[in-house]
Amino acid sequence: MIVPIWSLEVRPGQHRLGQIQEFVQKRPKQAGIIYCLSRKTAEDVAAKLAQQGLKAEAYHAGLSPDRRSKIQDNFINDNIHIICATVAFGMGIDKSNVRWVIHYNLPKNLEGYYQEIGRAGRDGAKADTLLFYSFADVSMLRDIIQNGENAAQNEIQLVKLERMQQYAESLACRRRILLAYFSENLSNNCGNCDICRNPPQYIDGTQIAQKALSAVYRVNEQVPMGMLIDVLRGSGRKEIRQLGYDTIKTYGAGRDLSQWDWQQYLMQLVNLGYLEIAYDANSVLRLTAASHEVLFKSRTVQLVKPSSYKERQEEEKAAAKTKPKTLAKQERLRDELFEQLRQVRKEIAQQEGIPPYLIFSDATLEEMAFKKPLSETALLGVSGVGEKKLAQFGQQFLEAILEFVGSSSPKEKNLPYKLSLEMLKRGLSLEAIAEKRGIETSTVLAHLAYLYETGEEVPLFQFVSKVEIQQILKARGYLENPSSLKTLYDYFDGKMSYDKIKLAMAWGA
Ligand SMILES: [Zn+2]
Repeated sequence: MIVPIWSLEVRPGQHRLGQIQEFVQKRPKQAGIIYCLSRKTAEDVAAKLAQQGLKAEAYHAGLSPDRRSKIQDNFINDNIHIICATVAFGMGIDKSNVRWVIHYNLPKNLEGYYQEIGRAGRDGAKADTLLFYSFADVSMLRDIIQNGENAAQNEIQLVKLERMQQYAESLACRRRILLAYFSENLSNNCGNCDICRNPPQYIDGTQIAQKALSAVYRVNEQVPMGMLIDVLRGSGRKEIRQLGYDTIKTYGAGRDLSQWDWQQYLMQLVNLGYLEIAYDANSVLRLTAASHEVLFKSRTVQLVKPSSYKERQEEEKAAAKTKPKTLAKQERLRDELFEQLRQVRKEIAQQEGIPPYLIFSDATLEEMAFKKPLSETALLGVSGVGEKKLAQFGQQFLEAILEFVGSSSPKEKNLPYKLSLEMLKRGLSLEAIAEKRGIETSTVLAHLAYLYETGEEVPLFQFVSKVEIQQILKARGYLENPSSLKTLYDYFDGKMSYDKIKLAMAWGA
C-alpha cells in the first residue's frame, strides 16, 4: 500500500501555541503555513513565534498590498519560514516546498480545509498537517455563519460546518472520511493519519454516560459543556455555588476523570445522539430520547477511550529512546546535510534571482542528503536531477556533499581519499583539489596512489607516464633499500618528483 505523502492529524485545541512551538522546533527551517480564523490571531501567533527566534510573519487582508507581496516573496524565497495567515493567503502562490500546514482554528468546511492542506507537499515530498479542534471554534463559526449576510446560504453553511466537525471528531481513518466527502472512496485505511497510527480503544462507557446525563438532568438542562464538566468534577467555582449546583447528587461524581477526558466523552455522547447542544440557547446541553434509555432503561453505551495527545507524546518519546543511537546519528547527519543543501540552493537562488524550488525541490534535496552522491553520474541517479540541471547547478551541490561527507566521517579512512579522487574525476586540477581541501598536492597524490593500490580506478597516467613508471620500478631493482622514497629520489638526482615516485610505487605494488 502506498502511504500518502500528507499526514493528517487532529488534536484538541488546548495550549495550541505550546503545541505549535514543539511542532515547529521538530521541523527547523521548513516552510509552513498556520491558518487562523482572525487577523488578530494570525498576528498574535506570528509575534509569539518570532519571539522564539523563528522567522514568522502574519499575512492578512488588512495589510497593504505592498507589504503582502513582500511577505509572499520572502516566503517563496525561503527568507521567511512560517506564515500565519487568514484564508486570504495561498491563492495564486506557487511554492512547491511547503512542508506543513497547521489549522489553528477549525475551517468552516471540508472544501476549504482540503484546499488549504493541499498547499503543502506540492513537490511530492512528505508533508504534515495538523488541525486543532475546539468546541469554542465551532460556536464561533456558527455565530459567524448565522450573522452572515446571505441568510439563504446559512442552512447549507451550517450543514457543511457539521461535516467539518464530524471529520475532526472522527474515530475512523480521516483520509477515508475526507475522500468520501468528495465522493472518492478509499478501499483501505490510509496508514498516515492519527487514527490509523493510533486506533481507538472501546470501553464500556455506560457509567460515564449515566453520570453525565444525570448531571444534565439535575441542572435542568441549563448549562453548557464547560460548566457541566466543572459540576461533574466538583469545582469550587463561585458561580456553581451561587446556582446551587454544588448540592446536586452528581456534583463531584466525575472527579476521577480529567477535564480533557470529560470533554472527549461528552463530545462522543453528542455525536452518538445521547446529548444535544442547543446552539440557539447559549449552547447548553439537552437530553434526547436516547438519553432516557440510558438513564432509565439500562441501555449500555460504548465509548472510545480518549487516548490523549499527551499519552501519544509519551509513546513517541519512549519509541525515540529505544531507537538505536547509530540510527539517530545517521538521521541527524542526514538532516544536517539537507539543511546545508538547502543553504546552497538558497544562495544560488539569490544569485540567479529565481525561487529556490526552481533549482531543486525539497524532495530532490532529501534524496541527495540520503544517497550522498559523490559523482555526477551518481547525482544523475537522484530523481529531479536531469542533464540540464546537472550542468547548471550540479557542481555546487556535489561540492557541498563532498565537503560534508569528508568532514562528517573522519573515522572512515577511505572517504577523504575518495573525496580527492572524485574531485579529480570532476576535472579539478591537483592544485585546486589541494587548495579546496586545505592539504598539500603531494597528499592528494598519496591519496590517489593509495586508492590505486586498493583497486580503485585512478587515472594515474595523468601524472606519471608509463615510461617513467618503468624507469622507477627498474631503479628499485638496483637499490639496497628500495622502499625508501628518498633513496629513489636521490637515485634520479632530484629529476623525478616525489609524487611520480609515489605513484609509480603504487602502480608497481
Ligand atoms: Zn488513516
